[in-house]
Amino acid sequence: MQDPAALLSSVFGFDSFRPGQQDIVQAVCDGRDVLAIMPTGGGKSLCYQLPALARDGVTLVVSPLIALMRDQVRALREAGVAAGALTSASDAEETEEIFRALDDGRLKLLYMAPERLARAGTARLLERVKPTLIAVDEAHCVSQWGHDFRPDYLEIGKLRARLGVQLAAFTATADEETREEITQRLFGAPPQVFLRGFDRPNLHLAFRPKDKPREQLLRFVDARKGQSGIVYCASRARTETLADALNKAGHTALAYHAGMDPDARRLAETRFQREDGLIVCATVAFGMGVDKPDIRYVAHADLPKSIEAYYQEIGRAGRDGDPAETLTLYGPDDIRLRRAQVDEGLAPAERKEADHGRLNALLGLAETPWCRRRALLSYFGESPEGDCGACDICDEKPETHDATVAAQKAFSA
Ligand code: ADP
Ligand code: MG
Repeated sequence: MQDPAALLSSVFGFDSFRPGQQDIVQAVCDGRDVLAIMPTGGGKSLCYQLPALARDGVTLVVSPLIALMRDQVRALREAGVAAGALTSASDAEETEEIFRALDDGRLKLLYMAPERLARAGTARLLERVKPTLIAVDEAHCVSQWGHDFRPDYLEIGKLRARLGVQLAAFTATADEETREEITQRLFGAPPQVFLRGFDRPNLHLAFRPKDKPREQLLRFVDARKGQSGIVYCASRARTETLADALNKAGHTALAYHAGMDPDARRLAETRFQREDGLIVCATVAFGMGVDKPDIRYVAHADLPKSIEAYYQEIGRAGRDGDPAETLTLYGPDDIRLRRAQVDEGLAPAERKEADHGRLNALLGLAETPWCRRRALLSYFGESPEGDCGACDICDEKPETHDATVAAQKAFSA
């Protein structure tokens, strides 16, 4: 089995997992049946594509839309992955080529339109090639009461039973009834369920334009003296100057960046893990291995590189579920620096365009006049009902926006 984290960057060019992806990938790689519910845009495809690449044999992917399937196959092939789709849109030559790749054991992902599952030839084909995993995308299509019901999806459960093979199902539809129906129709025994929205309600979100950045940051940290926190910086030099400044102001701060020798890095990691009230001023090199539940704040002394990086980095605070604070400082120099980093990077043109898009999404979040959590979650495809009441923008809103509070005030006056 190959290391999925390594494939994430070598094949897909991503430097980190999206929230929830890693656990799902791990469970699928471990051979468990999985039902994963993740919001649209959360990155479900990767959760079956990575395990498919990591393991031996071919993974059968059932997906309801031919256009989506072909799109994924094209993207996978461009990334050098042996993938193919059998749909009503495949011509004879394409089908021939897929059969050849299957027989040679070369194919890693076989996408199949659901209406193909019930065909006699398909059963024979699948008995012969014996997929090691069935991945069901848009698994809510198996629900007869749902809006996207596809009768052919009912074949999948039978196929799984006949082949006796592991199954992983994915959907963005989280309601209880649909979940139960999926479990009942697709799986033999209850699968491991991953249900994960993007909201982290205990994280307070705030952005501030840089004015006097060092003072702004000191003020923020002073107000949280004795708490454990991370201050992310855009450069190695800045981690050191900020750590100095914090130490001079009576805090205990350590610098951390990839230029330090490994022993010093490890020491900083263990101290942060074990001691209370330590501050680490770090570049993005700090984080992957940090699993401290009671980090009470994450401050960004400089703008992160993208909305994904931002989410990932603030997400390290408050893993214990208790309230945690975040503050992101940004200025025109940061924006120029981040743009230049994208432009000067070695990534191909489309990747650069996407990186600019993710940076711009973060700037949109920094400058939004509305609830930040709503803006952040809507980027990830969620649509929360109301404003969060736990971001700097909600804090500043006059309370009269809330009719009941306004009414109470009027009565008690
Ligand atoms: P879903 O099926 O959950 O709606 P997709 O699998 O289509 O989401 O992924 C949505 C987008 O997120 C795609 O553009 C994909 O390339 C991107 N994506 C997925 N995982 C990652 C990751 N770990 N890092 C960066 N981008 C990712
Ligand atoms: Mg999808």
